[in-house]
Amino acid sequence: MVPSHISSPDVLIVGAGPTGLSLAITCRRFGLAVRIIDRAAEPSRVSKALAVWSASLEALDSMGVIEDFLAAGERMHELAIGWGARRLATMAVGVGIDSPYPFPLLLPQSRTKQLLAQRLAALGVTVERGVELTGLAQDKEGVSATLCGADGQEQVARARYLVGCDGARSRVRRSLGVAFDGTTEPATFLLCDARIEGGAMDPASIQLCWQRRGTIALFPVEHGVWRVFAMRQSGTDEPATLAELQAQLDRHGPGGLRLRDPSWLSTFRINARLAARYRVERCFLAGDAAHIHSPAGGQGMNTGIQDAVNLGWKLAQVLHGEGDAALLLDSYSDERRPVAADVVKGATQKLHLAFGTGLFLRFARTAAIPIVARLPFVQRALQHELSETGVVYRDGPLVALGQPVRGHRRTEVGTRACDIVFRDSATGQRRTLWPLLGWAGHTLLLFGTLARQPLPAEVDEHQVQVLRLDADTDPNGAAAARYGISGSGWVLIRPDQVVAARGKANDLSRLGVYAHHVLRGRQHLRAAA
Ligand SMILES: Cc1cc2nc3c(=O)[nH]c(=O)nc-3n(C[C@H](O)[C@H](O)[C@H](O)COP(=O)(O)OP(=O)(O)OC[C@H]3O[C@@H](n4cnc5c(N)ncnc54)[C@H](O)[C@@H]3O)c2cc1C
Repeated sequence: MVPSHISSPDVLIVGAGPTGLSLAITCRRFGLAVRIIDRAAEPSRVSKALAVWSASLEALDSMGVIEDFLAAGERMHELAIGWGARRLATMAVGVGIDSPYPFPLLLPQSRTKQLLAQRLAALGVTVERGVELTGLAQDKEGVSATLCGADGQEQVARARYLVGCDGARSRVRRSLGVAFDGTTEPATFLLCDARIEGGAMDPASIQLCWQRRGTIALFPVEHGVWRVFAMRQSGTDEPATLAELQAQLDRHGPGGLRLRDPSWLSTFRINARLAARYRVERCFLAGDAAHIHSPAGGQGMNTGIQDAVNLGWKLAQVLHGEGDAALLLDSYSDERRPVAADVVKGATQKLHLAFGTGLFLRFARTAAIPIVARLPFVQRALQHELSETGVVYRDGPLVALGQPVRGHRRTEVGTRACDIVFRDSATGQRRTLWPLLGWAGHTLLLFGTLARQPLPAEVDEHQVQVLRLDADTDPNGAAAARYGISGSGWVLIRPDQVVAARGKANDLSRLGVYAHHVLRGRQHLRAAA
């Protein structure tokens, strides 16, 4: 039966995958009443995603769950192309990333979901399992969702807002009539999670092997289990067998490796699709419900987690009666949809480069990649892209308030904030900015003489957390230099770790404009749970 005790939460989240769980945690941390349902009776034991990248780790920090992730996962070292004497290139992963977590973390998706669900439970919310959304309707005050329990009984539940985090075949998306245009790859792909005998495999590296006109990719899962990923030449959809994967590994892999004890064997088609809209009035789409693409690059789950942190604080702001609701809620799609469009495009290119069978692509793989992949700027660009730390929000009404400049150097408006080290004025201890960004609001950095003056009249102490960086707390000016501030100035950081607005000491107008549209109505500082 569908439980009826939480009759009208602020937000009803449909789907308890990584996106839905991240959104539920974010909403709870900001003090919202949340309900999260999933039609599956049990969490899935198989793990599609295996890698958590830097920007997601930064988000997990603000969700209060990073220590659990770091303890459970393995830091990835490198992407190796070729094997032994046939090694074509090695790309270090995570080097040069400007982040408190400058590495990708290898962790199966089933564990990611487990850790997120534990954190959510600690915040007082349990996933309601065996509850499926079958329909929805909305009006000016809220959303009515038809929910069906495992016993087949239906109930209509109300919520102020609803977010469809219900995966690629999203019922929410279809109920809203939102188009999901894109393409389907003609080839069938094969996947197997199994133990591998016969080779000294580095459990912190990904292996990509190209030979005899084909590709095989090997990803460490955990405890000696590897994921083997290949493309079926025939394009049929019959179930995969271990013998078929073994034959692919023998033909295209390094040789001498034996697969055993498969825990997951699957065939699947790859789609590249993007929802036409992310918002229809009081309903939103996030994660795979809004964007799907090839697993090449390992970005799907990561992009979903970041959709969740972008939307969560905006819903909280609106539900607490703070700021301009239309501006905040519209900005979700304006900011996140272009990011997904780039991810979908990049994942398709990577898939074709790794698995394409055409003459040109085969030539590029064996002749050009060994040279190009060694170039430091190529390695840097790829890592920036995959880590998602270089994501820039260029569009939408919220970014416009901060008047972004062209070029988008890191720490400009719309880019991700950078971590800084400073001296705590009370204790004299060395501290870093990042843990402070985990609180439930905006953070205002004041530099130079501005840091020694009363809080600018454009904001009040209920609206922002203030960090003063002057000659005492930033003695050698390193923090100011990281933010490109010479002399005095200010930088306002959003709860999702994005730079909201910035300016010089003598120009506080943007701070006033932003505070008027976004922070207006806030009565008190709210600590995160
Ligand atoms: C082989 C493979 C490898 C991948 N590797 C990576 C990687 O390394 N890194 C990465 O970032 N991504 C990777 N991905 C992508 C990643 O797995 C997905 O992007 C991720 O699962 C999306 O999370 P989500 O929460 O949006 O959706 P899902 O994980 O699909 O969760 C949706 C949830 O909604 C529930 N649901 C569906 N319909 C309803 C309904 N009507 N009512 C109630 N509940 C409903 C489902 O039961 C499910 O639990 C990979 C994908 C594949 C296929």
